[in-house]
Amino acid sequence: MYVYKQSKALSESLERLKKEGKTIGFFPTMGALHKGHLSLLKEARKLNDIVVSSIFVNPTQFNNSDDLIKYPRTLEQDLILLEEHGCDFVYTPDESDVYKDEKRLNFDLGGVDLVLEGASRPGHFEGVARVVKLLFDKVQPDSAYFGLKDYQQCQVIQKLVDQFALNIELHFVPTLREDSGLAMSSRNLRLSEEQRAEAAIIYKALLHCKENFREDNMAALEKEAVEMIEMAGFNMDYFTIVDSKTLRKPAINSESGKQVALTAVFADNVRLIDNLILN
Ligand code: AMP
Repeated sequence: MYVYKQSKALSESLERLKKEGKTIGFFPTMGALHKGHLSLLKEARKLNDIVVSSIFVNPTQFNNSDDLIKYPRTLEQDLILLEEHGCDFVYTPDESDVYKDEKRLNFDLGGVDLVLEGASRPGHFEGVARVVKLLFDKVQPDSAYFGLKDYQQCQVIQKLVDQFALNIELHFVPTLREDSGLAMSSRNLRLSEEQRAEAAIIYKALLHCKENFREDNMAALEKEAVEMIEMAGFNMDYFTIVDSKTLRKPAINSESGKQVALTAVFADNVRLIDNLILN
């Protein structure tokens, strides 16, 4: 496995391989890798000759400096995991290498960037769009892999690819969960053992919505889900059922025909997000 801190050298190596006709699959990460990240690697491995990852805790997507400082960083261990699981190239830059040649763009993310996570974390998705566009430019992948754990992020990346007519096939990979149902997340490292056990209620509340979903009972389900999560001691940011494409209400919308429940909760100051397609 080749590890590059400089994108120039990375791009040159990858260009050579592309010229030889090799296909490139790419999955960006912020490190503190777990099995969820490795499921992206596994998917990329199935369909591509070369698998590239990146590990970069992107400052422009953090609207809370404390969250950025406390974000777990486990680079050495991450590189061992990636190598063991068959990754070919890893880009581990510092901020200046990622942003040095940036030409500022006007992103049109269709409004899916402004609700939910976007409303609670102003500027977050613009930071995501900026970094993903720069990484795509450097790696020039044929396919890119993102986790449905970050459902709204998947919609934002789709808009980014559409806006710039990028020739990249997007793959959205199902959320990997602990046995308890808790979605795997780097931020889980910041939970106490007790919080981690209690956080299983988030998935239970989502499942409660899926199992009882009817077009005429969504408001009641949202209320029940909030009660379940708050009873377990978490502070609610949002729990909402919306249309799976617009991420807005009305949730019943002839265009997509699917509804998704999305939630963000705080365990002390650790923010956890999760979601589930309901039908
Ligand atoms: P992050 O390092 O949190 O930015 O995540 C990097 C990529 O891994 C994103 O596309 C995430 O959606 C994905 N990911 C994170 N957690 C999971 C999970 N539990 N299951 C599947 N994909 C995940």
